[in-house]
Amino acid sequence: MRTIRNAFLLAALLGFGCSSQATLPRIRVEYSPSEDLACSVPRGSPIKDEWKTELLSRQPEFVRLWQSEGPKLVAATEAISGRDFPLQEITARLTLCNAPSESFPGTDRVTINMRYALRSFTPEPVSMRYKVDTLFHEVLHIFLSRHPIKNSALLKEHAAEDERVRDHLHLLALQKAVLLKLNEPDALKEVIAVDSALPGGYYKRAWELVNTTDTEYLKYVAELSKKV
Ligand SMILES: [Zn+2]
Repeated sequence: MRTIRNAFLLAALLGFGCSSQATLPRIRVEYSPSEDLACSVPRGSPIKDEWKTELLSRQPEFVRLWQSEGPKLVAATEAISGRDFPLQEITARLTLCNAPSESFPGTDRVTINMRYALRSFTPEPVSMRYKVDTLFHEVLHIFLSRHPIKNSALLKEHAAEDERVRDHLHLLALQKAVLLKLNEPDALKEVIAVDSALPGGYYKRAWELVNTTDTEYLKYVAELSKKV
């Protein structure tokens, strides 16, 4: 089977010219039709050629947007939390398989589902910026796995919530803090709206808890940045 692999190394994330030690991670964005085929066949959910064609034509758009936004998102995360991003390369595999975006902590690999960003897939696609924020979300899972929160009073308070909700409270609060710090209220609005429409309702619930009041997210951020 022929494998076409499009890989873009984002050297822009290295933080050239910084006076401090560069701690920004390198993200390699790739799309592998053969891996997508291996994913989609067992699910009985074939990937149309027109989706693949559109994704390949728009992959550079996604990469460019990440190149411009990613360093700012990462730098703001480090500034807010006082913690460094892991330095090793992270592979972001784009997928058209009927599978959710996911991170695999320990493997430094994330997958980003691109279906809903495609005009050939849906008449009302999400913005490419939302997919960049999805990549950021998945990278934040890796970041938080390196900086686990110990003895969280907030997680104890929400012990009855589903684990998938609890797993996202600090992450979404941090994502909100970052987007507000970068003065990106429209991006935040789209993230909350699209996340809240995802199946299962876990993100909707997590966003509800993080947005209980205008300042609720700051409690989570405070736990994240607490030195133990
Ligand atoms: Zn997540």
